[in-house]
Amino acid sequence: MDPSPSLSPELLHIFWHEGMLSHDPGTGVFDTGHDPVFLEVLEKHPENADRVRNMVSILRKGPISRFISWHTGRPAQISELHSFHSREYINYLVQADKDGGKELCCGTFLNPGSWGACLLAAGSTLSAMKYVLDGHGKLAYALVRPPGHHAQPSQADGYCFLNNAGLAVQLALDSGCQNVVVIDTDVHHGNGTAEGFYHLSNVLTISLHMNHGSWGPSHPQSGSIDEVGHNDGFGYNLNIPLPNGAGDKGYMYAMNELIFPAVQEFKPNFVVWVIGQDSSAFDPNGRQCLTMAGYRSIGHIIRKLSDEHSNGRLLIVQEGGYHLTYSAYCLHATLEGVLNLPGPLLADPIAYYPEDESFTVKVVDRIKQYWNVTIPWLKEI
Ligand SMILES: [Zn+2]
Repeated sequence: MDPSPSLSPELLHIFWHEGMLSHDPGTGVFDTGHDPVFLEVLEKHPENADRVRNMVSILRKGPISRFISWHTGRPAQISELHSFHSREYINYLVQADKDGGKELCCGTFLNPGSWGACLLAAGSTLSAMKYVLDGHGKLAYALVRPPGHHAQPSQADGYCFLNNAGLAVQLALDSGCQNVVVIDTDVHHGNGTAEGFYHLSNVLTISLHMNHGSWGPSHPQSGSIDEVGHNDGFGYNLNIPLPNGAGDKGYMYAMNELIFPAVQEFKPNFVVWVIGQDSSAFDPNGRQCLTMAGYRSIGHIIRKLSDEHSNGRLLIVQEGGYHLTYSAYCLHATLEGVLNLPGPLLADPIAYYPEDESFTVKVVDRIKQYWNVTIPWLKEI
């Protein structure tokens, strides 16, 4: 198939700045930064610049390139960061940078060059959101690193320093958006974004993730189904922990049975999609076994939701995805789905593992039952 641009009137606007490559979390045993001495070859930290180099490259040179418009990102001002993060936390990060860097928590290294990249990631995401809010385009993608969805208002976590998506959501609210949904399909629990809006009913945070639980002091949230929000926010944080190996069919079942009806009920004015390719079949940091076909289908669903509820306005924010090759391919497939292209533009070069969604289907059905009895506005879905 050879889709013509007329089949996809919306261009995808990508916000990117090569200064984000200057964040280097170093080498070691996987993400520890530790050299045990007895290994001959230490690997790069999984959140290295190469992963994003390949993403930029496939979008510039791959068949999707003709549907893309590129925009240069910009650094955030310190004052802009206070809309999501505490002043004490931002001062702490600025000081850590001045001091020459620091491991802020397990695997999360603020090294020389990192802070500038953090500011570019936050500022570029804000620019992408503003571009859509101002009506210049409908589909924007913040291709940013370091990632952000684990960064809480006052706590770095999981390779994340500033919550890029959270800052953009707050900008949308401050610009008059009545309610926003954040759908996080990175393989890890979007605990930072959840924490930032946990007490609000006008931001529905949904995280679909591997059932990994809490991973220490920087990540006290469990990501379990009973973390549903506080006070006014009760019922407006929805966690969907899926069993390992959920696969394309398991993810589509969860999208169709849980996420689609919940968003239909919530009726958001704006859709923010937080993506990570670490839910792929080959990612070193995830066990969820998605392939390019699965990402493409999820992209179609998210586009449908944004078309129905937010007049097609959609901000996509990049998070994890650590397999150097497959993350780029899966990103390409994801964006094909978002653009509603009629057929795959790129074949999947490596997917072949069988999948069994039967356990995931049972888990999704149980989550739905839990929502029906626990969350007043989801009784009927
Ligand atoms: Zn992740």
